Amino acid sequence: MADTVTFLVDPLPTDASPQFLESSFREVEPGADALAVNDLAPHRGDGVFETLAIIDGHPQEVEPHLARLVNSARLCELPEPNLDQWRLIITRAAERVPAQGEFALKLALSRGIEPGPKPTGWVHVTPGVDFTAARRRGIRVITLDRGVAHGVGDRAPWLLLGAKTLSYAGNMAALREAKRRGADDAIYISSDGYVLEGPTSSVIVRMGDQFVTPPPAAGILHGTTQRSVFAHLEATGRTAEYRDLTVDDLRAADAAWLVSSVRMAAPIVELDGATLPLDAETTAALNAYLLSPRD
Ligand code: PLP
Repeated sequence: MADTVTFLVDPLPTDASPQFLESSFREVEPGADALAVNDLAPHRGDGVFETLAIIDGHPQEVEPHLARLVNSARLCELPEPNLDQWRLIITRAAERVPAQGEFALKLALSRGIEPGPKPTGWVHVTPGVDFTAARRRGIRVITLDRGVAHGVGDRAPWLLLGAKTLSYAGNMAALREAKRRGADDAIYISSDGYVLEGPTSSVIVRMGDQFVTPPPAAGILHGTTQRSVFAHLEATGRTAEYRDLTVDDLRAADAAWLVSSVRMAAPIVELDGATLPLDAETTAALNAYLLSPRD
């Protein structure tokens, strides 16, 4: 058992024989000199990734994460990932961490050694950031202008807005700006005033008994957690829908959350300095669901 696990992966083509799967990756010491400096991941952020939670030994929502990996790879014109290979690697990584507790598994696929196109892959598992207080007491959030109009993805697909690429420097800068202004996190707003997403999360609001999230066509990543929450809400008789949300809608919400694979559901209790209601009951129910084994 280890708290931190790193695998180097030789990404296989989709038609590779199953006999090669088990030998297509190897464990290395965490922090080993494993990635070449001329790999296009460190140079350009040219690659895609996924982060999923391992809860008490169970990797959460593997198939939705792999489906999004395939979509990100397609948008970035990377070779199609061999999903049997990634399923096996995720299983092996989950077997290496303690059977109790929360862990974050990052898997990445880069375009490889410059100029490509033979991809490089790796998996890195670490103990999950402790979100217990954020889940219970809530978070303070600021809105930040993303500087692009909502729906720009259709006009400018090269922005790769629907892909989970390794180019997260802008997202990290947004989080630093939030901290600088005394908040915990941020929500991007389009230049024409629509709610988009957090730098590492999706936004869900409750308006009366209806749960709403912005549509992926707004130019955002389609969150696996948001989808899972919506499926759960619908299965328990609630209404959940994709709809454009203005900043005023967000300010007037009866409750709002940032959701993502490792944080689960963090209720927003302050937006740009103004109080937002904390729906403790729904928050507790969502987190109980999100922390239970999900496939
Ligand atoms: N939007 C962005 C930009 C993200 O980076 C993330 C997760 O990191 C999400 C949304 C939420 O996605 P998921 O629920 O699949 O973790």
